[in-house]
Amino acid sequence: MVNGTAKGAAGCAAKSTDDGATSDAGGPRLRPGLDLIPGYRAGRRPEPRTDLITYKVSSNENPYPPLPRVREAIAAAAAEVNRYPDPGSTQLVAAIAAHHDVPETDVVVATGAVALCYQAAHAAAGPGDEVIYPWRSFEAYPIVAHVCGAKPVPVALTATEEHDLEAMATMITPVTRVIFVCTPNNPTGTVVTEAQLTAFLAAVPADVLVVVDEAYIEFADRTDVADGVAACRRHPNVMVLRTFSKAYGLAGLRVGYALAQAPLAQALRKTALPFGVSSLAEAAAIASLADHTELMQRVADLAGERERMIAELRARGLAITESQANFIWLRLGGRTAEFSRCCDEAGLTIRAFPGEGVRVTIGEPAANDRFIELAATLI
Ligand SMILES: *Cc1c(COP(=O)(O)O)cnc(C)c1O
Repeated sequence: MVNGTAKGAAGCAAKSTDDGATSDAGGPRLRPGLDLIPGYRAGRRPEPRTDLITYKVSSNENPYPPLPRVREAIAAAAAEVNRYPDPGSTQLVAAIAAHHDVPETDVVVATGAVALCYQAAHAAAGPGDEVIYPWRSFEAYPIVAHVCGAKPVPVALTATEEHDLEAMATMITPVTRVIFVCTPNNPTGTVVTEAQLTAFLAAVPADVLVVVDEAYIEFADRTDVADGVAACRRHPNVMVLRTFSKAYGLAGLRVGYALAQAPLAQALRKTALPFGVSSLAEAAAIASLADHTELMQRVADLAGERERMIAELRARGLAITESQANFIWLRLGGRTAEFSRCCDEAGLTIRAFPGEGVRVTIGEPAANDRFIELAATLI
C-alpha cells in the first residue's frame, strides 16, 4: 500500500498518462482515441521479504548477471557519457552485420525490439489502416497499432496456443499495412515453423510489412523453427526483430535491432528517436557479441532448465504447452488469479493474465524448483 504523500504524487502522474485524453481538468486537447490505448502492463517485482528469498520470474529476464567483460565495457563507456552517443551506432551495426553475414545497410539498432515495433508501425501504418497480430501475444502490438491511429486486428491463437496463420491471412484487407508474427510467441512459447512461415509469406501481398519478432529465438532448439533472417533476405516486405534483452541479459540497457533489406531499413531509421541507443548500451552489446559463445552456453543451460521444468510438471499431471522460449505457459482460466496470489505469497512473482493463464520465466534453478512445488498444488 502507498502512503498518503506517495498516493498524491502517483495521482498527479496518472493524470498525464492513464486518463489524460479524457481529462476535463484542463491541459491540452489530446488526440481523439488516446484513451483507447491500453497501458503496458510490465511484470511486477516481488515485495521485499525478510523470511525468504524472492524471485522475479515475471518479465522473461535473464537470471544471470552480465559477464565481467560486458561490465568492463559498460564501465569504460561510462567515462564518456558527457558526449552524445554515435547516432548511427556504427560499430554495433558493423558487429551485428558481421554476426549475421548481412550488409550493414540492412541493420537498424534501436532502444529495444519494442522500439522497432513502434518504428515499423509508424513507418507503414496510420489512421484508417489495419495492423494484424496474433492474440494472445506481445502486449506492445495492440498499443503500437493504436498509437499510430491504425485499427488493431487481433487474431486468436489456435487451441494448441499457436499462431493461426491461415486465419491471419484471411483477415488481410486492402488497408492492412503491418502484420506481426511472434516466434517463439510471448506468452505461450509456441513457434512458427519454416514451412508455416514460407506458406504465410506467399499468401501476404508483397506491399504489406511483416514483422517477424524473434525476441526469444536464441532459446529455440527445434530444427524446424522458421528462419526470420533468411525470410527477410528473400522478401523486401519482411523484417526480423532481435533483442539483447533476453538471451544476452541486457534488458536494463535497452538495445535491440532489426534486419531488413535496405529500403525498409532506411524507413525504420526515419521513424526512430534520435540518439536513442546510449553509448553504454552500444558498448555492452558489442562486448556481448564478442562473448557470444559463452552467452549461448547460458542460453543452453536455461533451455535445459525449461525442459526439466516441463518434464517435472507433466510428470505431476499438468498440461503444459511445449515452449521454445525462456518461459513456460500454463492455461489456468479462472484459477489464474488465485494461483498467482499463491506464488506471490511463496516469494515467486510470476506474470498472470487474469482469466487466461500464467507465464513463468525460467530463472535460477531454486526459483524453478519453487515453481514446480507450487504448481503441483494445482492438481
Ligand atoms: C521482450 C520482448 C520484446 C522487446 O524487448 P526489448 O527489451 O524492447 O528489446 C519484443 N518482443 C517480444 C515478443 C518480447 O517479449
